[in-house]
Amino acid sequence: LNSKRPAESLHIKVGESLPSESTEPQTETAELETESAEPQTDAAELQNQSKEPHTETAEGDPKADFVTTKTLRRVIEELLRGRSLEKLTFGAFLSELTDALKLDAGDLADRRSEVKVILHKVTRKELQRQLVEHVKKKRNDASTAEVPVFSKVETAQVLLVYVVTFATPTDAEARRRLESFSRADLCTMMRTSLETAQAGRAEEHRAVVEKCTIFLERGSGAAGHHAHVAIKVTQPTRWKPWNDAIFQACGLVANFSSCIKGGYHNAVRYGFVPRPGKALEDLDPEPFTYPDSHPPLAEAMHRNFNSDAWADETLAQTQSRLSRGKSAPRFGPTDLWPVLVKLNLRPEDPAYEAQLFQYAKQSGGAPMIDYLVRNHDTLKGLGQKLWLLQEAENHVIQAKKSRLKFLLEATERSCVCAGRWGRAARQNLEANEISEEVFTKAIYDALQHGRAKGHTIALLGVGGNEGKTFLLSPMKDIYPPGTVIGSPSPSAFPLLELCKSRVAIWDDWRFDAAIIPIALQLQLFEGLAVTVNRPQNQFSGHEIWQGSTPFFLTGRLDDLMMVKAGVSCTDLTMLRKRLKVFEFKRSQTNPDITIPRCASCFAKMVLRKGNPRNMRFITPDLQEQAPGEVVVDYF
Ligand SMILES: [Zn+2]
Repeated sequence: LNSKRPAESLHIKVGESLPSESTEPQTETAELETESAEPQTDAAELQNQSKEPHTETAEGDPKADFVTTKTLRRVIEELLRGRSLEKLTFGAFLSELTDALKLDAGDLADRRSEVKVILHKVTRKELQRQLVEHVKKKRNDASTAEVPVFSKVETAQVLLVYVVTFATPTDAEARRRLESFSRADLCTMMRTSLETAQAGRAEEHRAVVEKCTIFLERGSGAAGHHAHVAIKVTQPTRWKPWNDAIFQACGLVANFSSCIKGGYHNAVRYGFVPRPGKALEDLDPEPFTYPDSHPPLAEAMHRNFNSDAWADETLAQTQSRLSRGKSAPRFGPTDLWPVLVKLNLRPEDPAYEAQLFQYAKQSGGAPMIDYLVRNHDTLKGLGQKLWLLQEAENHVIQAKKSRLKFLLEATERSCVCAGRWGRAARQNLEANEISEEVFTKAIYDALQHGRAKGHTIALLGVGGNEGKTFLLSPMKDIYPPGTVIGSPSPSAFPLLELCKSRVAIWDDWRFDAAIIPIALQLQLFEGLAVTVNRPQNQFSGHEIWQGSTPFFLTGRLDDLMMVKAGVSCTDLTMLRKRLKVFEFKRSQTNPDITIPRCASCFAKMVLRKGNPRNMRFITPDLQEQAPGEVVVDYF
């Protein structure tokens, strides 16, 4: 029995199969390589190994002993070839092997360890073979998947996008004629022919070439060249009259075809992207594009995506894969995009996940259900990303829009307070002996210049309840959701929100070091760059933030004077230098809490008196920008 020990110390590692014996599946790949490097040692090893069990089982079943090690190995190889090795268990395989060798059950019982050793070697070989095959197949799929499919157009078809091919003419004279055309000549000829073809139509019904790309390709054997034209017209156009006009103009035969999936990008791909049977060097190295504003072809080859297009592509991909006998593509994170848009479902919705589950059960299919269950914990974050994707253009516009532009736009909104907000705000300022002009100018300057020394505005009270927050809150409706940030909360990442902010309103701010060290506050309020710590499971690295977000603080006046832990007298002096303080001494005994915050009235108030030149609304100095802010054309 001693001789069995070395055999047992060998492990068969086949992923999750034979779980009791698989110890270190992660070393599989490395082992595979070394394994394949020295296959010749296998046989020698096998013979050594096989001797021991043989001597041991001398008393065993004579029938099984007739099966040589070589035969065992060959049969095992045959049995394993091409099958899914993850589902393999040793017991089941042994009985399968017994059957294959036409032995009786239990005949191989005494040669288990020998079979294990062989299986061990063969499985690794087979795994590697399957891996190589899998990779080969993947590469193949990738090269064939993207080929656009074209078909000849019916005479009745009226399309926006065509692929027009000028094949190499067989007739020598016509061939020379085609040779004489440059890419630009072909482009001009296509455009004038289109004009000619529509000569009888009313001007407003005439289509023109919106964009096109001309590819000249040299066929094999230098038999002259041929041309492909990817072309998009401004309105659906019949191709037959156009085709006739081309022939009349130059005597060349054009073949119009349509891209089955449609889209100018697919037409461009046809001439721009290599594919099986069309190597890169066979493609036109310098295609001609029209008009001058035509995007580079590397961009033009991609379709313009929206959530519908994404759903279409996914469907087309699924159909194409299924028709080729392949499995449907997996449900991926972006496949949720069309669903969220269709349901108009945002991650802030309290029933966000539930609604997704409901949709998946009703019409999402098994892959979506499985995806949602597996990724339940990260669906919210994914939803935010997908909505950013959906509204990217909007975000770009808003990010480029200046704070004053938002303020100006707010004046055009309708008043929601029937003038009550403005009245109450003025009364408040008056009661506290604060000049409306000085106050609104400070806000105007802060919004225009962003955070800078002296532009951080602090509304500080004596007894509390002076309506300070009331004066600032309409800004929350003026700037896009999520860009007006509130006081940082105690956490490991108190400043995380700064990175996406346009305005910061820190209500009831304490001038202490509890949440943010005073040194950091000084940097923030002065306009210096600060390091914003970010959770490293969501971001990589920390951000150096140098945004221009102005700060509006409300708090207590005595707090700004009080030395406390982490805040020295010098700190307080430096803080005060950075702040523009407005003192509120009059507590409101019975504030009217029914007055809604009104973006329109706030904006009008700030722009009327706060505007330094005291001009109404539209003034040239609205266009002045603080350095670092993106300048946009206003009017
Ligand atoms: Zn109002």
